[in-house]
Amino acid sequence: MTYFEDLTPLVGSPLESSACLAVGWLEPEYAYPQGPLQPFVVERLIELLVDPWQPFVYMGTHDCGFCRLTGGPCQFTYGNTSIQMKVNNLLVPFEQHVFVAPSLIRHYMDAHQYCPPQEFQEAVLACPPMRSVAYLKAIRRIVPRDVLCGTKSGGRLDQQRM
Ligand SMILES: [Zn+2]
Repeated sequence: MTYFEDLTPLVGSPLESSACLAVGWLEPEYAYPQGPLQPFVVERLIELLVDPWQPFVYMGTHDCGFCRLTGGPCQFTYGNTSIQMKVNNLLVPFEQHVFVAPSLIRHYMDAHQYCPPQEFQEAVLACPPMRSVAYLKAIRRIVPRDVLCGTKSGGRLDQQRM
């Protein structure tokens, strides 16, 4: 169970930073925005989700809390494109922030009428090609190095134990 309100920091996760904002971390206990989607936003989002780059830190697998019997699909197929679900996270740079979304976001949009924030949709449309130099540079410009390396949260956990 992982819930973050849209456009808030991912508190307690390896990517906790004021530079990183959550999008699409839904759980049934919390209301979320629903509404129509522009097809070109959906198509661009799917392109980004085919093989998303992410730092070595993972936030674990994530089941869909709304699909209470199956936990949601493990794979999502749209046209000729298949996307691995549940394991990958998508990082999308936009101005001074990076949006962090679970790959299940596509399932939430398809099956549960989720409509992500306008800022995120703009970021998806403006995002450089996945894994391109421009993409990686944008992420590194925004996200502090210790967060990207996963050393920030590790250090804090160690301090708490002392
Ligand atoms: Zn579901």
